[in-house]
Amino acid sequence: MVDLGLTVSKIVMTATLTRSEKTFSLLRCKECGATYQPQAMHVCEKCFGPLEVVYNYDTIGARVTRSSIEAGPYSIWRYRDFLPVETENYIDVGTGMTPLVKATRLAKRLGLKRLYIKNDAVNMPTLSFKDRVVSVALSRARELGFTTVACASTGNLANSTAAIAAHAGLDCCVFIPADLEAGKILGTVVYAPKVFAVHGNYDQVNRLCSEVANTYGWGFVNINLRPYYSEGSKTLGFEVVEQLGWELPDRIVAPLASGSLFTKIYKGFQEFIKVGLVEEKPVRFSGAQAEGCSPIAQAFKEGRDFIAPVKPKTIAKSIAIGNPADGIYALEVARQTGGEIESVTDAEIVEAIKLLAETEGIFTETAGGTTVAVLKKLVEAGRIAPEETTVVYITGNGLKTQEAVQGYVGEPFQIEAKLDSFVRAYERSQTLDRLEWQPALV
Ligand SMILES: *Cc1c(COP(=O)(O)O)cnc(C)c1O
Ligand SMILES: [Zn+2]
Repeated sequence: MVDLGLTVSKIVMTATLTRSEKTFSLLRCKECGATYQPQAMHVCEKCFGPLEVVYNYDTIGARVTRSSIEAGPYSIWRYRDFLPVETENYIDVGTGMTPLVKATRLAKRLGLKRLYIKNDAVNMPTLSFKDRVVSVALSRARELGFTTVACASTGNLANSTAAIAAHAGLDCCVFIPADLEAGKILGTVVYAPKVFAVHGNYDQVNRLCSEVANTYGWGFVNINLRPYYSEGSKTLGFEVVEQLGWELPDRIVAPLASGSLFTKIYKGFQEFIKVGLVEEKPVRFSGAQAEGCSPIAQAFKEGRDFIAPVKPKTIAKSIAIGNPADGIYALEVARQTGGEIESVTDAEIVEAIKLLAETEGIFTETAGGTTVAVLKKLVEAGRIAPEETTVVYITGNGLKTQEAVQGYVGEPFQIEAKLDSFVRAYERSQTLDRLEWQPALV
C-alpha cells in the first residue's frame, strides 16, 4: 500500500520515456574500472580483468514497476530492461518463469520450515538454467551481427546453444569434453550443430576455444560474449523475488561451476533493491561444489582470496570447472553475506538426487544433487536455521545424466501378462517394502 503513490507516478513517467532511451551503454572492467563500447569482448585490455555491463539505473527505475513486469511476457524477457539487449528483436523461446515449489516434504525430512525449490530442471527449451544465459547471449550476438555462434561447454550449455541457435537460424559450433554423459551429447547433436568432442577436460576445451574465437571471429557465448551471457543468470534472482510475492529470501543455496550464476543471483537481488522493486534485507549465499572439483570451496575453507586450479574428477560433470573464471567474486559474495561454499562427495550427490526425487517428485541431474546434498550438510551442521526462508536452485534435469544413478535406483518387477503373475510379484514387493523400511534412510 505504501508504495502505491510511487507506482502511480512511475506509470505516468513511463509514458514520457521513449523506448529508445538506453538502459545500458558500456562495458566496465571489474578490476580497474576502464570502460569499453559494448562490443564482443570480455577482458580488459589494460589489466586483463573481466568486463561487466554497466546499466543506467535511473532510466530503468523510471521505466519499471512491479505491475509493468507482471504485465510482460511469461519468460525472462519480462525483465528485459535489466538485460543487455538493445532492440525488441530478442529471442524468446519461453525461457524462464520456471516453478518455485514449496518443498514441504523435503523440508520436513531435513527439519526446515520454509524451503523452496526453484526448478530449472524444467526450463525451456533444453531443461537447464543455461537456456537463460544463452537466450540473452544469442539475442546480443544477433544484434552485434554474428552469424556463427559457439560455446565451450560442460554439457548443458552445448544443449542450449545448439537448440536456441537452431531456433534463431544461426550457424553453431559446439566444443565439449569427449567424456560427457550420453544424454548431453545426444541432446546437442540432435539440433545438428557442428560438435567437436575434445580429448581433454573442460579447462582444456575452454583454452582451445579462446584461440578459436580469436582466429575465426565467432560469437562464443561464454568467451567473447560472456559479459552479456552472464547477465542472463540474474533472472534466477528476479524470478525468485517476484514469485515470493516481491520479497527476498533469507538464504539461497546454488551450485558453482565458474561461479558466474552464484554472483549474478546476488547482482539480480541488488538491482531490484536499487530500483525499489523489493525491500532490502540480508540474504545469505551458500554455494555448492562437488568434492572432486571444489577449488572455490577449498579457497573458502582455507580463508584464501585466490583460487588454486584443480583437475576435475567427479560425476557432477556439468559443474566440473577446475579453473573457475568468477571464483574470486563468488568467494566475496559468500563471505560478505555470511554464507559459505561447501562441497560434498559423489556418493552424497547420488543420495541427494534420490532424496529430492522421492520427497518432491523432481528428478535433477548431478548439479542439483550437489546442491541438495550441500543443503542437507549445512542443515545437519546447524548452519541453516529452521525458520529461514531458504531457496534451493535446481539447475538441471536428471534425464540428461542417467549414468549417475544407474545401479543406485530400483528396477521394475518383470511379470507375465497374467493376473497370478502380478499377484505374486506384488506380494513380493510388499515383503521387500517391509524388509527395506528404515527410519531416515538418507
Ligand atoms: C553450468 C551449470 C552450473 C553453473 O554455472 P556457472 O555459472 O558457471 O557457475 C550449474 N548447474 C548446471 C546444471 C550447469 O549446467
Ligand atoms: Zn581493467
